[in-house]
Amino acid sequence: MTIKIENQTQVLQWLREDDPEKLDELFSLADQVRRENTGDGIHLRGLIEVSNQCSRDCAYCGLNVSNKKINRYSLTDEEIFACVDKALELGYGTAVLQAGEDKTIDPERIVRIIKQIKKTTGLAITLSLGEWPDDIYQLWKQAGADRYLLKFETSDRNLFERIHPGSDQYRTEMIPRIQQLGFEMGSGVMVGLPGQSYQSLAGDIMLFSKLNLDMIGVGPFIPDPDTIMGKQPELFNLDVENQVPNSEIMAIKAIALTRLKCPTTNMPVTTSLATLNSDNGLEKALCCGGNVIMPNLTPMRYRTDYQIYPGKASLVEPEMFLAKLKHRFEAIGRHISKGRGDSAKFLYRTERQVPHEHKK
Ligand code: SAH
Repeated sequence: MTIKIENQTQVLQWLREDDPEKLDELFSLADQVRRENTGDGIHLRGLIEVSNQCSRDCAYCGLNVSNKKINRYSLTDEEIFACVDKALELGYGTAVLQAGEDKTIDPERIVRIIKQIKKTTGLAITLSLGEWPDDIYQLWKQAGADRYLLKFETSDRNLFERIHPGSDQYRTEMIPRIQQLGFEMGSGVMVGLPGQSYQSLAGDIMLFSKLNLDMIGVGPFIPDPDTIMGKQPELFNLDVENQVPNSEIMAIKAIALTRLKCPTTNMPVTTSLATLNSDNGLEKALCCGGNVIMPNLTPMRYRTDYQIYPGKASLVEPEMFLAKLKHRFEAIGRHISKGRGDSAKFLYRTERQVPHEHKK
């Protein structure tokens, strides 16, 4: 069977496909495309959840400002630097600083943290701090940040407005501008959001390729009881024919199709997939397109407070987690990559290197 994924209709057909044999062919092709374009190495990015404070009221996320049940925290500079040291000690090439939409964060403080990390380590820095004015992104870029991660969550504008109130601009429009500032740009969506149709998920995957993203994270939506979507999914859900389920197989299909549309992009496996299937969700995603993992470095005592959905917090110490990962990678013939793991697309754009696929 020749698999063609050129237009939205073909993506849509595959999202609706449920013949296991056909899907196996799709997954093996995605795995082959991943191998040819990004190799067998898996990049590790150490995730530091610097604050769970949030000013927004997103319908999907447990950190929403209306949720009074969680203890709010902000890591001190010392705590952040201790996590960075851990990333170095474990041989990770990247530190990811993530937070809720915490408007109490002083952008100048982030500048100082970026500069300090850059002065003392060779780590790449990814920021995932939500929506800020362009001049703040620019400030952080000039301070030395390398990458920005801002998921557009869904390309359906009506749905986005309902589930992510309070934005004065669409993330899909912010993304090219942030990329223009010189960041490697990451984005992504949730699969099976109440109100997400097959058509709109197919549109998300087409948009990934149009936006020329350097990193794409695709993971299943997991309802959180302390969110509107968790409490009242019926407010959002479509009829069964059109509603995308938030199942593991649907997430894996979306990952595979994304890899086929975006052969050289770095694709992190989301924690939500590993949470949905803690036995082998990770392996499944790595074997149908994924090539990046973001192990959590947040200090243990804050982990359960960064609850964007239930069951997320892993209470395994970073050293133990890494040891287990190594075994799991070996079992599927993969290994940990050395270095920063920059995106081939980014290196090509900045003319630092011609990516593999262009060398042929
Ligand atoms: N405040 C930052 C970081 C958000 S948390 C921002 O808005 O960019 C990182 C990601 O977790 C989100 O972008 C979203 O894709 C994912 N997420 C949030 N709630 C989720 C849920 N209930 N299920 C699955 N993923 C979720």
